[in-house]
Amino acid sequence: MNTDQAPIRGVAPKIGIVSLGCPKALVDSERIITRLRAEGYQISPDYQGADLVLVNTCGFLDSARDESLEAIGEALNENGRVIVTGCLGAEPEVIEAMYSNVLAVTGPAQYEQVMDAVHTHCPQPHNSFQSLVPESGIRLTPRHYAYLKISEGCSNRCTFCIIPALRGDLASRPIDHVLREAEQLKKAGVNELLVISQDTSAYGMDIKYEKRTWKEKEYDSRFQDLCEGLGEMDMWTRLHYVYPYPHVDKVIPLMAEGKILPYIDIPFQHASPNVLRNMKRPAKQDKVLERIKQWRRDVPDIAVRSTFIVGFPGETEDDFQQLMDFMQEARIDRAGCFKYEDVKGAVSHDLPDHVPEEVKEERWHRFMQLQQEISHERSEAQIGRTLDVIVDDSNGQEGIGRTKADAPEIDGIVHLENYPNLKVGEIVKAEITDADFYDLWAKPPEKH
Ligand code: SF4
Repeated sequence: MNTDQAPIRGVAPKIGIVSLGCPKALVDSERIITRLRAEGYQISPDYQGADLVLVNTCGFLDSARDESLEAIGEALNENGRVIVTGCLGAEPEVIEAMYSNVLAVTGPAQYEQVMDAVHTHCPQPHNSFQSLVPESGIRLTPRHYAYLKISEGCSNRCTFCIIPALRGDLASRPIDHVLREAEQLKKAGVNELLVISQDTSAYGMDIKYEKRTWKEKEYDSRFQDLCEGLGEMDMWTRLHYVYPYPHVDKVIPLMAEGKILPYIDIPFQHASPNVLRNMKRPAKQDKVLERIKQWRRDVPDIAVRSTFIVGFPGETEDDFQQLMDFMQEARIDRAGCFKYEDVKGAVSHDLPDHVPEEVKEERWHRFMQLQQEISHERSEAQIGRTLDVIVDDSNGQEGIGRTKADAPEIDGIVHLENYPNLKVGEIVKAEITDADFYDLWAKPPEKH
């Protein structure tokens, strides 16, 4: 396509979207699509049918930056008219040095700027299409689960992370706005909410826990109140990216009462106080272990998910061994492990004693082997139990689902065998018959 070619007035222009990166970026894409549809634009499923392509990039790690740059190049080759947004958009010089012919570059969560760029390069059609947009907005996830973004940015300064530089400090949404969106999602058929942000447990700090009214009840814009409000909605509510502040413990009783899912995604990143200090993260590991044990006493079925980084600058074999000992004792149910990636612009880039790649690799394998054993132990303990399973897919005879301990995309699945007439999105009982490292197999319970 000629890069100067703009769509003909009167015909609704079509915008292609390439969405890269984490669930937070996916939510940004959903918001952009909702705005586009609200203004009467159409969404093109391919490059050829699009008048313009928006590439929502990720810039967190060097590998993600490479993937984003590659995606921009592909969109330029295939279509020619490209607007770039998202995390990598915070560094326009990087993009423009490589691709001088992109139409515009905007940064993360800059919805107004993205829309301005679209208006400039694809003039806005008449907005009689407004009513085509459902109240709940346009979502890129399946109908039965949805990501609920409660804030932007982060006010922590972990030394390995450039997200605050890319996305700014914490900016929380007022609690009534979040609860209203959750209610609209429920009305639109959502049965599972995935609460996301960069720092979920800091929710509301920036707006001084502003008091707001929702359904004639006063709530503070605060993590605990938010969980209570969501817990009233009769949906599975799953908490992601919960920074390990002490006040997190206050929501554990809501899990015990069944108001929110017994699942907590809480990135610990390491267990050695030395490494944690160098990361600028909370470093009292004995307290963390005691808290996890207490959570398990209060909610025996709780699934703890966490992420860890091995090979951080200065990590010694002794530090790594402390991490392994912590894993042995804490029995983290779901753990992601990343080899430290030396992102330019991160404070850790300038720390001394970087760990050689082969050492990182070797530690990563040791960690993953232990994690597999822990995960397998949990999976095997489920055999013979009857669990609630949310159905993600079905062919009429059998299906795929997830237990309360499994988030979509990142955790295990349940193979529902000889289970006819399952409906996607429904929550059914299933008797677990078999398990491997991460996945389960199940059949209808006897009295199905
Ligand atoms: S809490 Fe998360 S987003 Fe915030 S600085 Fe640390 S790693 Fe980055």
